[in-house]
Amino acid sequence: MITIKNNQEIEKMREANRIVGKLLHKIGSIVKPGVSTLDLDNFAEQLIRSEGGRPAFKGYSVPGLPPFPAALCTSVNSGVVHGIPSKTEILQEGDIIGIDVGVYKDGFYGDAARTYRVGQISSEAEQLLQVTMEALDRGMAQARVGARVGDISYAIGSYVLDQGYFVADNLTGHGIGRRLHEDPVIPNWGAKGKGPRLGKGMTLAIEPMVNIGTNRVIEKGWEFFVEDGSLSAHYENTVLITESDPEILTAYKN
Ligand code: MG
Repeated sequence: MITIKNNQEIEKMREANRIVGKLLHKIGSIVKPGVSTLDLDNFAEQLIRSEGGRPAFKGYSVPGLPPFPAALCTSVNSGVVHGIPSKTEILQEGDIIGIDVGVYKDGFYGDAARTYRVGQISSEAEQLLQVTMEALDRGMAQARVGARVGDISYAIGSYVLDQGYFVADNLTGHGIGRRLHEDPVIPNWGAKGKGPRLGKGMTLAIEPMVNIGTNRVIEKGWEFFVEDGSLSAHYENTVLITESDPEILTAYKN
């Protein structure tokens, strides 16, 4: 069931997602060579708690895996998603790192991700980031009253393929609200005009995960990697469906 949020609920969604947007903005200034992914996680948890939120990924459980141990998912280079921060994983000049964060506050969740440049990156990596950002923009542009989930999926998947890249298998966006993952599932590939119809007051996490070499991924516990070891990027926003353009709840506001 896709939940429709009323005005009071939307205000709470705005607040949880505001913290997500602020964190993803602030953390950009500390991503640099020599920093560990655990340093980033400590920064994140502190900021989230100082804003009255709780890190939503920490303790998150799925069958067959231990609870997720951190506030952030940090996925470096060929990491696709769900990387676990570690004090022994030190960022190197030229790396790219996907940082995904969820925040819970006052009954509601926020969720978004960005991919960051560590120092100077290759033109190959830069191109991947640009394509993944553009894929998210194109997906969000379809998130309108009366459209269908498949319109978002098609906009993302067809653009990525046209550019010669691949969307990662089996990883999707999702509805979000009182739960971190709600209906509908939002694939990054699919057919126009198919799937559930979008209505005012729905909140969706749209999140293309784009690989250079192949759509295939391998799972190691929580962590997903590109099968051929090529680079992967991830951008995500939580958006509110309105009568006009979607409201990007995880945009950074001063
Ligand atoms: Mg998500």
